[in-house]
Amino acid sequence: MQVTFLGTGAAPAMPSPFCACYVCTNARRVGGKNLRRRSSIIINDDLLVDIGPDIATASFAHGLSLACINVCLQTHAHEDHFDAEFIVSRHAEYGTEVSRDLLFVGSSETLRAVDGIVGRRSSYGSIFDPNTQTALKMNVLCVAPYETCMVGNYRVTGIPANHGTAQGSLLYSIEQENHAVFYGTDTSVLSEEVWEHLTLLGTRYDLLVLDHTYGIGFDSRPADHLGSGDVIAHGDRFRESGLLKDNGIVYATHISHEGNLEHDELDEYAGRHGYRVAFDGLRLVLEG
Ligand SMILES: [Zn+2]
Ligand SMILES: [Zn+2]
Ligand SMILES: [Zn+2]
Repeated sequence: MQVTFLGTGAAPAMPSPFCACYVCTNARRVGGKNLRRRSSIIINDDLLVDIGPDIATASFAHGLSLACINVCLQTHAHEDHFDAEFIVSRHAEYGTEVSRDLLFVGSSETLRAVDGIVGRRSSYGSIFDPNTQTALKMNVLCVAPYETCMVGNYRVTGIPANHGTAQGSLLYSIEQENHAVFYGTDTSVLSEEVWEHLTLLGTRYDLLVLDHTYGIGFDSRPADHLGSGDVIAHGDRFRESGLLKDNGIVYATHISHEGNLEHDELDEYAGRHGYRVAFDGLRLVLEG
């Protein structure tokens, strides 16, 4: 199982375009891993998590093709995670030769929100209408919280996020054969109900990816995002609960400028606290 980060930035990207703060100014100067597109990942070459506004430019930058993607797990419909253009442009009117139908997966709230956005953007009709699905070469799958379903050869479970501005936001547990990834952005502190269900599910993760919008010295904000201290605490709890494999790793993503250092410095800090910092183009191969 391979996991590739297409983007690791928060909503405004990093550096934030109009920001003159030290972190953003330094990120522009140093470049490289400090330049972050909006967050999304691909697993192997066929599963995308979040069809966000930067997936195309990320695929150009990292020499990746998205033409084999046939599953999209959508965490929620915030604009930094969903760009309707990539759905609409699947239509034959765009001359797009789609080799595989796309199975678009999300909570009922997310699918309804996406349907509204696509409806305002085009006249192709509702994504719930079979005729529209045929025209856009896509199907939709609504997942309930904690429901596990097989999507292709992936075992997928939607876990409720604590991200109140977008009702129905999901984090995803994604398993294939004996490997498992927990993709955990955008969320604030996980609820006790979530911990109970994670314990019941009993999946032991190779890779835990967590929201790290706020950096060092920042606390999570209720119904919003995590800070560095929360990532440390969540990583520790996954380990102590036996939910992270002995050789499992924790990576931070969805990084903003608030309290976050230059990438290498931040990664060094993270390394001393039990996690690592992802960067755009990072590819992790889960083995063993
Ligand atoms: Zn976001
Ligand atoms: Zn800034
Ligand atoms: Zn969000």
